[in-house]
Amino acid sequence: MTTGFSGKVALVTGGAAGIGRATALAFAAAGARVVVSDIDEKGGEVTVLAIKAAGGDAMFVACDVSDSEAVAALIRHTVDAYGRLDVAFNNAGIEIEHERLADGDLETFDRIMDINVKGVWLCMKHEIPEMLKHGGGAIVNTASVAGLGAAPKMSIYSASKHAVIGLTRSAAVEYAKKGIRVNAVCPAVIETDMFRRAAESDPRRAEMAVAMHPVGRLGQPEEIAAAVLYLCSEAAGFTTGIALPVDGGSTAI
Ligand code: NAD
Repeated sequence: MTTGFSGKVALVTGGAAGIGRATALAFAAAGARVVVSDIDEKGGEVTVLAIKAAGGDAMFVACDVSDSEAVAALIRHTVDAYGRLDVAFNNAGIEIEHERLADGDLETFDRIMDINVKGVWLCMKHEIPEMLKHGGGAIVNTASVAGLGAAPKMSIYSASKHAVIGLTRSAAVEYAKKGIRVNAVCPAVIETDMFRRAAESDPRRAEMAVAMHPVGRLGQPEEIAAAVLYLCSEAAGFTTGIALPVDGGSTAI
């Protein structure tokens, strides 16, 4: 166990599964008190139990990140329980579209934008004032390699992740002198439920997914967690406004 985050309070959205769960566990192992948030209460409680079983401190707060009131309440709960907010990983997101742009529907567009874009914006909107009260903090938003380039049959998702990078860069510049660093991680294909659902709907995706990474395998949630912890740590004190690919070399091709 490292102690780089001892005394810090970390918030993780989408913490009930996949990348969020792995990152919540990593923050706790590094000494942070962790607020695990998600719409999936059962999964969120599993994450909290795993943190506690490993000797860490965590609590679950249910929140739909697309709901403004719920996000405000999440930040209030965090500060009521732990007194402050130092680090936030705005990671909750969905990927539900597998069709060409002209076949897409308005409902899907709105749902993806509500969760992936409005959700990240709402979280930062409510997190930043709390961080400013204690001299600053660090935020990491989950974008994607689909936020850095084309993603065929995922144009809405791709647009949402480009938007996450836009929010990240602008917030980073706005708050750079106030002690808040804001960065994004851009995973390629990571072996989580999100990937498993997509692979089930189109079995060729699994094969194609492995082939797109020069390292010849999918990424693991813990590999994204490691990048997030680095970006939130003092070692990354001069790093803000970046969109860091964690991608097995896929954007190098
Ligand atoms: P996952 O589906 O395993 O986990 C996502 C979590 O977000 C789930 O626990 C889900 O309940 C939660 N969630 C969904 N909608 C929510 C909402 N409205 N409010 C709060 N929580 C909500 O997926 P994952 O692979 O761990 O994905 C995490 C993030 O990483 C997402 O933003 C995703 O777009 C991004 N990402 C994933 C991959 C990948 O290959 N898995 C690649 C690039 C980016």
